[in-house]
Order: sequence, then C-alpha cells, then structure tokens
Amino acid sequence: KAAGRNTYRFFTLEMNADLQDQMRLTGDLSRALRQGEFRILFQPQVDLRDGRITGAEALVRWQHPTEGLVAPARFIPLAERSGHIVPIGEWVLNEACRAARQWMDQGLPPLVVAVNLSALQFKRGNVLEMVSAALAASGLPAHCLELELTESVLLQDEEATMATLRSLKALGAKLSIDDFGTGYSSLSYLKRLDVDKLKIDQSFVRDILTDGDSASIVEAIIQLGHILQLEVIAEGVETDAQLAFLRASRCDEAQGYLFSRPVTAEAFAQQARHGVRWPG
Ligand code: C2E
Ligand code: MG
Ligand code: MG
Ligand code: MG
Repeated sequence: KAAGRNTYRFFTLEMNADLQDQMRLTGDLSRALRQGEFRILFQPQVDLRDGRITGAEALVRWQHPTEGLVAPARFIPLAERSGHIVPIGEWVLNEACRAARQWMDQGLPPLVVAVNLSALQFKRGNVLEMVSAALAASGLPAHCLELELTESVLLQDEEATMATLRSLKALGAKLSIDDFGTGYSSLSYLKRLDVDKLKIDQSFVRDILTDGDSASIVEAIIQLGHILQLEVIAEGVETDAQLAFLRASRCDEAQGYLFSRPVTAEAFAQQARHGVRWPG
C-alpha cells in the first residue's frame, strides 16, 4: 500500500520475516501483561515562564524477556490492532495515578500526570468507569489527571465518545490534544469540546529554526490556543534555540530532551523537588 496504487511487490522473505516478527510480538502481549513486563517512565513538563515543573507525561515501556526494551512505536500499533491496548492502557492509567498520588504524599508541589488514551479504548472499553476507578483506587484528585487524546479519538465523532469526554471533564479531569496539527485537522471539535490544552507535535518543533513554515505553524497554534483560552505545550524540545523561540512566542509549557528524557517515577520526583536544567 505504501508504494501507492497500481504497483505490486513480491512477497519477499524480508517482508515475511517482518510479519512473523509482528505476529510473535502480538502473541507475546497477553503474556507481557500477566507477567508484569510493562514499565512506565515519566517525562517532565516545564512552565516556560519560570522553568517550574508542572507535571509529567506517562510513557509506557515494554521490557521484553528476550527482545530487550521494545519501543512504543513498535508495539502500540500492534496492541491497537489486536485489542491489547485496552488492558494495557488501563494498566498504565492505574500505575500513573498511583505514582502521582505518591508524589503528593511525599509533599511535592502540585503535579499533573498526563496519560495517553487510544481511540480503541473509547470504542471498546468503558473509559469513564476506568478513569473513575483509577482515581478512586489511587486517591488521586481528578484535577491532577490529564488525558491525552489524539485527533483520531476526536474524529470518531461518535456521540458516545463526546459524551464520555464531557463526563470526564465533569469529573474534573483535564483533556489535551496530542500531536496537534498532524491529524486530519478538523477544528470543529475545539468548539464542541471543552479541552484544556494543545500539544504541538514535535515534528513542527524540530524544524522551528530551519523551516519558516514550521515556525509559522507553531506560532499560529500558540495564538489559536490562546484565543480559545487553552494552554499550549510544545513537545520534543531539544535545543536552547528552540526553547528561546517558544518563549518569545509565548508558548506556555514545553517537554523534551532539553529538560529530561523520560525517567522513572523516583527520578521524576527528584526532578520535581530540585528542578530541571533551565537557562539563565
Ligand atoms: P507521544 O504521546 O507524542 O509522546 C511523546 C514521544 O516523544 C515519546 O516517545 C517521548 O519519549 C518522545 N520525546 C520526548 N521528548 C523528545 C525530544 O526532545 N526529542 C525526540 N526526538 N523525542 C522526544 P515514546 O515514549 O517512544 O512514545 C511514542 C508514542 O507512543 C507516544 O507519542 C504515544 O503516542 C505512544 N504511547 C506511549 N505510551 C503510551 C500509552 O501508555 N498509551 C498509548 N495509547 N500510547 C502511548
Ligand atoms: Mg502523548
Ligand atoms: Mg505527543
Ligand atoms: Mg508526538
């Protein structure tokens, strides 16, 4: 399909190996959950006015017994196709809420934990029930939880999804739109839905200084967000020059390797206590 219409490829040995690899990993997913092979790392989100840590995004990792660390880019798409993303996503949510409650109990300043949700979780799972249960089990206040939605969730435009999202807001949880600008952007959901935050996709941030269009898009998203009274966060910030551009453009927050890679819950707690690298 990637080669376009009216072309065909022989089913090569290499493709076969690739497919076998995917099938094997998919088969391993159910065991992985039972055996506790998943981990979560947390990546700090930083206030661009003062460098203060406002919270962290929870990012899942798979410690495979023979493959080593499997990246989400490799297994999340498989888990979405096989349906395993529903229980995996529930596990991530519960663990993230538990970690955030521990940060509270350790006396850290107020922090928000952001959790990624897949479209399939809305289709197949009971997201509202899952979130309420995770908050109740952990004792985390709802306003300390943010749910990251991709445009694919919002474009499902099923009344059921919209109703769930409204109920999540009513609970007190925050909603953000992940990878903003990369989907089949229909802006109408911004009108219909009470979201709190836009996350500018890292592909735009990466090219801020080298590509005029990317820079303009980033500025436009920040302005759009602010007109709608939303917070705007930039993801994938790696350099001081990108940071300077974002601060000059009045972006609210940032997340990226410049501040920290994703780290364990304990390491994140240390950062929240002592701060991360901040210029000037
Ligand atoms: P995302 O939600 O857009 O997460 C941001 C990704 O960018 C993460 O990759 C993060 O490690 C990476 N990143 C952060 N800062 C930088 C930077 O400065 N430079 C570069 N090049 N990359 C940076 P990761 O952890 O590999 O996750 C990839 C994607 O997998 C996530 O993209 C998200 O879509 C998905 N994912 C991760 N955890 C979960 C989960 O628990 N549930 C679901 N449904 N999806 C998840
Ligand atoms: Mg995300
Ligand atoms: Mg993102
Ligand atoms: Mg992204």
